[in-house]
Amino acid sequence: MQLLYNKVAIITGGASGIGKATCQLFAEQGAKVIIADVNEEAGHVIEQQIVDDGREATFVKTDVSSSEQVENLFSEVQKRYGKLDILCNNAGIGMEKLFHNVDEEDWERIHNVNLKSVYLCSRLAIPIMLENGGGSIVNVSSVNAESPRKFYSIYASSKGGVSALTKGMAIDYAEENIRVNAVLPGCIYTEQTKKSIENSPNPQQTKDLIYNMQPLKRPGKPEEVAKLIIFLASDHASFITGSCIPVDGGMLAR
Ligand code: NAD
Repeated sequence: MQLLYNKVAIITGGASGIGKATCQLFAEQGAKVIIADVNEEAGHVIEQQIVDDGREATFVKTDVSSSEQVENLFSEVQKRYGKLDILCNNAGIGMEKLFHNVDEEDWERIHNVNLKSVYLCSRLAIPIMLENGGGSIVNVSSVNAESPRKFYSIYASSKGGVSALTKGMAIDYAEENIRVNAVLPGCIYTEQTKKSIENSPNPQQTKDLIYNMQPLKRPGKPEEVAKLIIFLASDHASFITGSCIPVDGGMLAR
């Protein structure tokens, strides 16, 4: 039996990294996947890969920090499926800067893409879920929400907001059968991690540093985060709401 058979699921930032792995796993498990991402080229590639595998996916070009574009995304989903079972608020961007070097533009960009997007997407998802008798929202926060690394204060602020919003929304809609949870990835080996190792002045030293950050002595794989997201999205997690769960190779346990 497929975990998400016939479920309609929006995954933001689904064109790369954790979001892409989540789209693939959701589709394998029977979901009709809507990939919402600003990256049109990569979004269409993953849409085609899923369709070529005989599964269902639709790419909708969306900047999740724009209320107009998010409204367009949801009206496309309503037109096509008339329901929504799962929303995964995954789109996000990083920034490494010492706190007082962060200008207002940085502050707004990070908070708009990482935090406001969760508000914009969820406020349109919830009325559809209420009408359908329930649903599941999974937000992608970060270990930085709990324990910020140096140069990550503004990113941590945005992700701390995502974790807090997760708990607040979970309480608001618990009686309506809408569960809201968050995953807190640690260091995950994506294309970006690969590039930052390759482009660093001393790639071997950077690689050792990244690997040794975890008690498990390696970064995670996007699929390892996707497996927690699919669990939380599915009925297997029917008694879990308002939880922010690390997937971090033991980093937060230190
Ligand atoms: P990624 O860069 O590989 O993928 C992010 C995707 O989001 C991209 O496809 C990008 O085009 C899209 N995106 C960016 N801005 C967008 C916007 N305004 N509207 C729509 N789409 C947008 O990154 P990733 O590492 O897979 O990260 C996914 C999520 O996981 C992010 O929220 C990130 O903060 C979080 N996270 C990642 C790590 C890690 O180590 N990779 C750790 C903790 C948390």
